[in-house]
Amino acid sequence: MSDGTLKPTEVHIQAESLTRFAPVLGEARWSALQAHGEQARARMAGRTFWNVNSTARGGGVAEMLPRLLAYARGAGVDARWLVLEGTPDFFHVTKRLHHALHGSRGDGSALGGSERALYDEVLRDNAEELLVLVRPGDVVLLHDPQTAGLAPALAAVGALVVWRCHVGCDTPNAEVERAWEFLAPGLAAARLTVFSRAAYVPPQCADRAIIIQPSIDIFAVKNQPMAPEISRAILAHTGLLLSEPDAPEPLFTRADGVPARVSRRADIVGLGAASAPDTPLVVQVSRWDPLKDPAGVLRGFARLARDHPGLRADLVLAGPSVASVADDPEAATTLNGVIKVWREQTHALRQRVHLVCLPMADREENAAIVNALQRHATVVVQKSLQEGFGLTVTEAMWKSRPVVASAVGGIQDQVVSGVNGLLVSVPGDVAEFADAVRSLLEDPVLAERLGAQAHQDALAHFTGARHLTAFVHLLEALDARTVTR
Ligand code: UDP
Repeated sequence: MSDGTLKPTEVHIQAESLTRFAPVLGEARWSALQAHGEQARARMAGRTFWNVNSTARGGGVAEMLPRLLAYARGAGVDARWLVLEGTPDFFHVTKRLHHALHGSRGDGSALGGSERALYDEVLRDNAEELLVLVRPGDVVLLHDPQTAGLAPALAAVGALVVWRCHVGCDTPNAEVERAWEFLAPGLAAARLTVFSRAAYVPPQCADRAIIIQPSIDIFAVKNQPMAPEISRAILAHTGLLLSEPDAPEPLFTRADGVPARVSRRADIVGLGAASAPDTPLVVQVSRWDPLKDPAGVLRGFARLARDHPGLRADLVLAGPSVASVADDPEAATTLNGVIKVWREQTHALRQRVHLVCLPMADREENAAIVNALQRHATVVVQKSLQEGFGLTVTEAMWKSRPVVASAVGGIQDQVVSGVNGLLVSVPGDVAEFADAVRSLLEDPVLAERLGAQAHQDALAHFTGARHLTAFVHLLEALDARTVTR
């Protein structure tokens, strides 16, 4: 129960100039980006572009939002980020909604009248503070199911409300319908809605839906260039690899340009020594969420090791430290489930599988570790059972890593199997997964070819430059709708 004091927190965003894109985009795309930046500034003059989500760290939205808003600010738009405050019960309901939108029952708990009342109450509290800040004509982009219920109050004071859904399910079922029914009153107040894929748009939003695919910031700490020996030094420092003599310092460059050192260590469940620097690593980086299927990755790797005893590779399953992601209350339970599966394995296999909780106290340090892990990986996997859009897939592609990912949701728009990665057609099929990983471990030429194409495709389709252009089109559509209403 809330006591009426829940308030969103503002996370300040430092402007980032668009000029960073000039050297990488090529003349035509750079000119287009400049023009779009100018259009955004002109269109938003005197107005604020608010973004509201439910966590400042952990997960794809918290990853993507601050970087995009930094570029929007760099273009001269007053883009601001607010993170709503919830209670554990509220996040339990919203996690249940998150699973339902993926077509899954989650923990099977109810989504009825009392959950609705709890959801509304928390959002009513948060709305009070928002209504002081938001002015008529401002654009408010609400992210994901946690925020949808804010739409009516904001629309009532003349804000142009857009709801953006980062999750979805290709084949809607009764769970998906239950989630849409729960969210319907909020969604009715949104002028436009944004989805990552056309297949995710529910009938009630069909007349006002726009498709925008997520993106990565190629200049973020997570994606900045990193020499192989620095990756190894960072991973050795965090406890993931054996240390090498004469290794360089585990350094990275912060977003503000200042050099920094990775100083925290990861919390690791493993047996015996860390991996040797030259042992090929199969890596999945994800929140501890059952839909990311970390236990399935472990089982697939176990099968691979059993069927191909001569194959040399270790597995790293990495995620955020479990207490750190406010809106993800299931993380500890999921991790415990993976540890249980790990304990069931043979001694020899347990020596090759490392379950890693990464320090989250310093977001940029965490990003540097993820960067090192993805760059050092021989194969990056994303064995999700459902995925709105997999940022980790694009991050690995940008780093020219060969990816093995499930053919689900947005991943199907990211990976073209056999061209820039490999898709596993049945996400639950451990044998198919193991086979795809084996083919890349055994064939470095194939791995290199797929990785090289992956980098090109990430640059062409999944950078912040493309995303900012989509924002400008969203603003145009929103203003056009406002005039005709
Ligand atoms: N991530 C991270 N640290 C971790 C685990 C995940 O920074 O310990 C990041 C990951 O690199 C990616 C995001 O969290 O940028 C996850 O986004 P994705 O779209 O893959 O999944 P989501 O969490 O949104 O379902």
